[in-house]
Formats: sequence, C-alpha cells, structure tokens
Amino acid sequence: MIVIKNEHELEIMREAAKVTAYILDEMLPEVIKPGMTTAAIDRIVEAEIRKNHQVPAFKGYGGFPASICASVNETIVHGIPSHLKLQEGDIISVDTGTIYKGYYSDAARTYPVGQISEEAEKLIRVTRESFFKGIENARAGNRIGDISHAVQVYAESHGYSVVKEFVGHGIGTNMHEDPPVPNYGKAGRGPRLQPGMTIAVEPMVNMGTDKCVVLEDEWTTVTVDGQMSAHYENTIIITDGEPEILTMLK
Ligand code: MG
Repeated sequence: MIVIKNEHELEIMREAAKVTAYILDEMLPEVIKPGMTTAAIDRIVEAEIRKNHQVPAFKGYGGFPASICASVNETIVHGIPSHLKLQEGDIISVDTGTIYKGYYSDAARTYPVGQISEEAEKLIRVTRESFFKGIENARAGNRIGDISHAVQVYAESHGYSVVKEFVGHGIGTNMHEDPPVPNYGKAGRGPRLQPGMTIAVEPMVNMGTDKCVVLEDEWTTVTVDGQMSAHYENTIIITDGEPEILTMLK
C-alpha cells in the first residue's frame, strides 16, 4: 500500500532529512581520508544524529549493528563499519538515515579516499548523474518505471551495470514502504506517481557485472567480479511540479 503524506507529515520528514543531508554533504567530505576507519566514521555520524535529537535509523534495523552502512570498493551495499583503515585510492559509499517523530530519512553518497583513479571518479560521477536522470521523470502522472528506466539507460550508456537485487523504496513511518523503486525496467510501467508520495531513489552502479553475493556476515554485499560499485541516494517528495529532494543540501 502506497501511503500519501499530508503537509504535516512532510514537514516532519523535511526535518529528519536535514540532519542526513548535513552529515552526507557537509560533514563527511571533511572527515573521510586515508587512515580513517569506517568504525570511526560510524561513531561520528551517530553522535551527530543524536546531537540533533534524532535516532539513527539503521542501528538495529533488521539487526544491523551500526548507524551507517560503509561499503568500500567492491562492496555494493550493507558494509558493516570495522577497524580496517581506508586506503588512498579507495572509494567508500556511506548510506545512513534518521528517525524524527516516527518518520524516516534515508540517503547515500560515494566518496573518494584521497586521490582516486579516473575510472573510479567517473563511476562516482555517473552514479550520481543517473539519480538525477531518474528523477527528471519523478513527476505526478508518470510511473515508477519511468524513473527506473531512465536510471538504467543512463548508467548502461557508460558501460556500467545496475544492481537488480536491491532497489529504492517508498519511505515514511517505515524505512521501506511501497512502492519498490528499481534501477531498471520499462518506462510506462509500475505504480503511478502522485503528489505527497515519498520515495528513496538509489542507483547502485557497478563497473563490471551486476551480479552480487552476500558475505558470511549476512550483510556485506559485494560484486561477484570484485570490481568497484557506487551508490547515490536521496529521499524525495513527488509534487505537482519538480520533485523536492529532501536529503541534499541546497
Ligand atoms: Mg534506501
């Protein structure tokens, strides 16, 4: 069931999203550097969320042990923060979210660690751009498939693949609500977009194969071929005009 939010609910979601946006767009670009551990990044993010009187959405979600997913290089999503140090040339995707007055925010970015290869830089850029290509179609009256199709076509036009096993989602009083928002599919298919729908659009783009495997910890999901993967996500509101992007600093 797709839940349409009223203005009061949207206002709460905007407040939740502001904290996530600040963390991802303002704080972490300064924090992430070679030698940093992903466990340290997790602690910093959790402290910032709590300082703002919000609750880390990921901690304990389905048993996940941390406030961020920290997915390095070939890890696509759901990497568990650890004491391993980031190395120059790595890329790291950080996915995080908050709960405020019972409403969720959810977003992700992929960051360079120090100096990275041109190939890695391009993967991060194209993944981000594929999100914006997707949401050009996030208009009332269009369908979910219009977003999905645009993301896939753009990513694949650069020789990359999109992950099929994990998808974007509706979001509100639950982190994952209807409708699913795949990063692949046919235009003109799927649920129709309506003003007041809140969805998380989140391209996961791989340099090589789209095939992935979940490691023994039952969370960490990596590419089968060991090539890099990037992730970019925002929580957005469908409106009568352009979508409102909540989890991004303006
Ligand atoms: Mg999400």
